Amino acid sequence: MTAKIIDGKKTAEKLRAELKKKARKLKEKPGLAVVLVGENPASQVYVNMKEKKCNEIGFYFKKIVLPENISEEELLGKIDELNQDNKIHGMLVQLPLPKHIDEHLIIDAILPYKDADGFDPINMGNLLIGKNVIVPATPRGIIKLIESTGINLEGKHAVVVGRSNIVGKPVSILLQQKNCTVTMCHSKTKPLAKYTKDADILVVAIGKPRAITKDMVREGAIVIDVGTNKVYDKLVGDVDFDEVKKVAGYITPVPKGVGPMTIACLLENTLECMELQRRL
Ligand code: NAP
Repeated sequence: MTAKIIDGKKTAEKLRAELKKKARKLKEKPGLAVVLVGENPASQVYVNMKEKKCNEIGFYFKKIVLPENISEEELLGKIDELNQDNKIHGMLVQLPLPKHIDEHLIIDAILPYKDADGFDPINMGNLLIGKNVIVPATPRGIIKLIESTGINLEGKHAVVVGRSNIVGKPVSILLQQKNCTVTMCHSKTKPLAKYTKDADILVVAIGKPRAITKDMVREGAIVIDVGTNKVYDKLVGDVDFDEVKKVAGYITPVPKGVGPMTIACLLENTLECMELQRRL
């Protein structure tokens, strides 16, 4: 058996085309602001990519680049400015932040209806109680990719490996909302293969190159690889793609899988932030 490839690039292109069409009909451009602190090369690449995709679909983009040694107080001041800026409907602070800055404090300062990442406690809490307002972009994209297979998710066993606030936890809630039975795994799960092998849907977000091998995957499973790891200048996922595709039913590649969907869903969130603000 060879898995069908879930094409994240194509799915993301389609979503961006829909967003572009919607934006064209609006009197005002949806506006996204991204705050970049310091000179982390990976963060710079991610921010530039967001800027490019934003411009391509006719959204307004504002990039705020701040020095590595900025104080928490100054950064909070910037967030406040963006909270007040009427041209900005959604914003995010590119993570990771320098060690001297409390990430939670900064994220909490973003108004919940301007939080394009959906990471603040209000949006996360809403997600937990089933009142989805702004859903974090990567998990939102993952669900769209799983749904693109056309497989009925009800009653399926979904196994999520990794319990981060930005991927593992929210994606597990979204899968429960789709009536999957969800198992959460993490670094202390023993033995991991016992759980992954039982998954109809396997979502992996651990940041460990090619950690999920063929013997850990059930035949015909849907495998979503969130990992982005640099190995000798090559981008590889958390799943051993070449081997696992021999047993899986569907699989996302890295790159061109989850990554492009994250940006497209961030843009979708920006438009939804704008719609929310109109209703306030
Ligand atoms: P993270 O904060 O790096 O945390 C890693 C999680 O994986 C933790 O919950 C950890 O368990 C678990 N873990 C680590 N090693 C494990 C192992 N050997 N077996 C089982 N669980 C293990 O997670 P993240 O921020 O979600 O990032 C994960 C990966 O996804 C990274 O490669 C990141 O670059 C990528 N990512 C990609 C996108 C995208 O758009 N493509 C978006 C976000 C993240 P403990 O909790 O027990 O420590």
